[in-house]
Amino acid sequence: AAKSAGGNRYQFFSKGLNQKAQERASIETALRDALRNDRLTLHYQPQLHLGEGRVIALEALARWHDEGLGTVPPATFIPIAEQTGLIHELGASVLRKACVQCKKWHDKGYPVIISVNVSIKQMMQEGFSEMVVGTLLEVGLEPRYLDLELTESMLMEKAAESVALLRMFKSLGVQISIDDFGTGYSSLSYLKNFSVDRIKIDQSFVRDITVRDDAVGIVKAIVAIGHSMGLKVIAEGVETQEEEQKLLTCRCDQVQGYLYAKPMPSAEVDAYLADAFVTARAGGEPGL
Ligand code: C2E
Ligand code: MG
Ligand code: MG
Ligand code: MG
Repeated sequence: AAKSAGGNRYQFFSKGLNQKAQERASIETALRDALRNDRLTLHYQPQLHLGEGRVIALEALARWHDEGLGTVPPATFIPIAEQTGLIHELGASVLRKACVQCKKWHDKGYPVIISVNVSIKQMMQEGFSEMVVGTLLEVGLEPRYLDLELTESMLMEKAAESVALLRMFKSLGVQISIDDFGTGYSSLSYLKNFSVDRIKIDQSFVRDITVRDDAVGIVKAIVAIGHSMGLKVIAEGVETQEEEQKLLTCRCDQVQGYLYAKPMPSAEVDAYLADAFVTARAGGEPGL
């Protein structure tokens, strides 16, 4: 009996793995199709100056609704895109859409920055910087209005290889932010060498600051390190007034999260920006 139970268990386990592989394969096929037919869209979430409430930038976030699969979250399809090489096409498409949209906002009188998530695999591909520069030129967007978000964990894995590339972007005027900061293992010396402009404190820390006192200490320390290197610090995933208050005491510069606005389709952002700029919650010199 024990033997057959073990056998069943094994069968069950292998079926689970198989199912996962099949699911991944069907997502890959559908994603390939979605890219070919340009069916990915973008939502945009405001990033604000903490205190003044001024809108500084909007983060572009990829969205995909498939007829068969339903809405697939980026946490599912981005890793698959990275593993299958589709990230290059996906990333180029996201960058172009985001820059075109940003230019439209500028033409309407809202000089906001556009933050675009970039996978390190994408950045490491031959021709990436040329693609970025080409897109900016074609769209007619000045480099200082583009911010590339790179996750800390992925960046540190390719730290040595990234230094020259990031320096080149810096010389062009493109801004660089380190996403999900605190979840990876940053080498402080690399951080200094990287010529980045901003760190984004991961939302797991923001969630903790109203719960644990040591978390406030950690966030204060991250902000202090960032400031000592001349970087701006933004907190992501801010959901409550209480979190905002704590972030103020931590001297955090900027905020992003549901408390201010959820990621929205461009039409909703138009209305949001119209309101924000009328009430002078935006404007001034562009820059992170
Ligand atoms: P991320 O870049 O760290 O983006 C922040 C995520 O937190 C987004 O999830 C956003 O919708 C969510 N968020 C924002 N405010 C709040 C809040 O107050 N509370 C909570 N609970 N969540 C909040 P989303 O859109 O599902 O994206 C997940 C991740 O997928 C992103 O994390 C990013 O790493 C990746 N991603 C999204 N779009 C792209 C893309 O175009 N290219 C690449 N390479 N990665 C992307
Ligand atoms: Mg991001
Ligand atoms: Mg993040
Ligand atoms: Mg993230």
